[in-house]
Amino acid sequence: MNNAEPVITLNRDTKKDDLIVITGAGGFIAGALTRYFHNQGFTRIRAIDKKPLPNWYQHVPGVENLCLDVSEKENAIRAVEGAVEVYNLAADMGGMGFIERFRIECLRSILINTHMVEAAYRAGAKRYFFSSSACAYNVTLQQDPHVRALKESDAYPAMAERGYGWEKLMSEMFCQEYWAERKFETHIARFHNVYGPLGTWDGGREKAPAAICRKVIEAKEAGKHEIVIWGDGTQTRSFMYIDDCVKGIDMIMHCDKLIATPINLGSNELIAINDLVSMAEEIGGIKLERKYDLGAPRGVAGRNSDNTFIKQVLGWEPNIQFRQGLAKTYVWIEQQYADRKVGKHTVEDHA
Ligand code: NAD
Repeated sequence: MNNAEPVITLNRDTKKDDLIVITGAGGFIAGALTRYFHNQGFTRIRAIDKKPLPNWYQHVPGVENLCLDVSEKENAIRAVEGAVEVYNLAADMGGMGFIERFRIECLRSILINTHMVEAAYRAGAKRYFFSSSACAYNVTLQQDPHVRALKESDAYPAMAERGYGWEKLMSEMFCQEYWAERKFETHIARFHNVYGPLGTWDGGREKAPAAICRKVIEAKEAGKHEIVIWGDGTQTRSFMYIDDCVKGIDMIMHCDKLIATPINLGSNELIAINDLVSMAEEIGGIKLERKYDLGAPRGVAGRNSDNTFIKQVLGWEPNIQFRQGLAKTYVWIEQQYADRKVGKHTVEDHA
C-alpha cells in the first residue's frame, strides 16, 4: 500500500494554462512547489514572496515572480487576480529556535491567510490550499519521546503550540468555514518537519536536520571534534523529504474527499535527535563528542505522524527514507558551505 499510486481518482480538471498562484515561493517548500508545477508543464504560474527577488532561494524559468507582502489586503487581492488555484504557503516561520522566540511574529501570519483566503474567494478561484503544521496539535499529547503518533482528531480539544501552532489552527478554521458557509473549496495539510536541499541551513530559522548537518560539517572544517545538541537528544520527530511534500500537496489539493479536511502530511519514521546526529556523522565520516545544551529550545518531547487517514484516502504516504534524504541534504549543505567560504552566494545569503 505504501508506495502504491492513489486508489481514488484525483480531480485533475486544472488545465495546463490555468493560472496557479503560489505564495511564499521565495522560500523552501513553495519554491520547490513552483518548480514541481513548472516541471509538470503548467505554463502560467505566479510566484509571490515578500523577500526581494534576488533573495529568493530559487527562480524557476517562465514563472511570473512578484514581490508582495500578502499580509496586506491590497497585495493579497493583487496576488490572486485571475487565479484558478491558490497555494498559500507564506508564513513567518523557522525551526524551534525561531518559533519559540518570536511568537508574535508567528501569530501575525494570521493576517496572511485571512486576506489570502478572502481574496481568493472573491477572485473566483476554484481551489485554495493552506499549509498548516503539526504544531497545531494538542501539546499535552506530545510530552513523551515515545509518543503515540498524532492523528487528525488530536488537534481538539485545542492546546496548540504557543504562537505558531495557534495561528495555524485558527487559519485552518478560516479555511473550513469558507467551505461550510460559502462553498469555497479549501484544502489543508498539516506538514510534519520538512527538510531537503534548497532549505534554510543557517541563520536561526533552520530546522534540526539542516542544523545538525551544518554542525557536523563545521566540526570537520574546524578540526574540533565536538557537537552541541539542543536538549538531551532524546526528543523525537519525523522528517519528510521535500519531494514527498510537494507530491503530497498536489494530491491533497486535487482530492475531493479532502475538502476542508485537515490531513497529516508527514513521514511516520520516528527519529531521535541523537540518531539523527549519528546518521549525519556517518554521512560525514566523522565521530564527534556530544555536548548537550539543556537550556536551548527543544520543543515538544516527541512527535510523529499517524498516516492511517492519508493511506486510506490517497493510497499513499510520504515514503522517502530519512537516511537517504539526509545524505542528499548533507551533500547540498556541504556544497553551500564550500561556496560561502570562497565568497560565492548561497541560499543563506538570500534568506
Ligand atoms: P520558508 O521560511 O522557507 O518560506 C516561507 C516564505 O514565506 C519565506 O520566503 C517568507 O519570506 C515568505 N513570507 C513570509 N511572510 C510573507 C508575507 N507576508 N507575504 C509574502 N511572503 C511572505 O518556510 P517553509 O519551510 O518553506 O514553509 C512553508 C510553509 O509550510 C509555511 O506556511 C510553514 O508554516 C509551513 N510548514 C513548514 C514546515 C517545515 O518543516 N518547513 C512544517 C510545517 C509547516
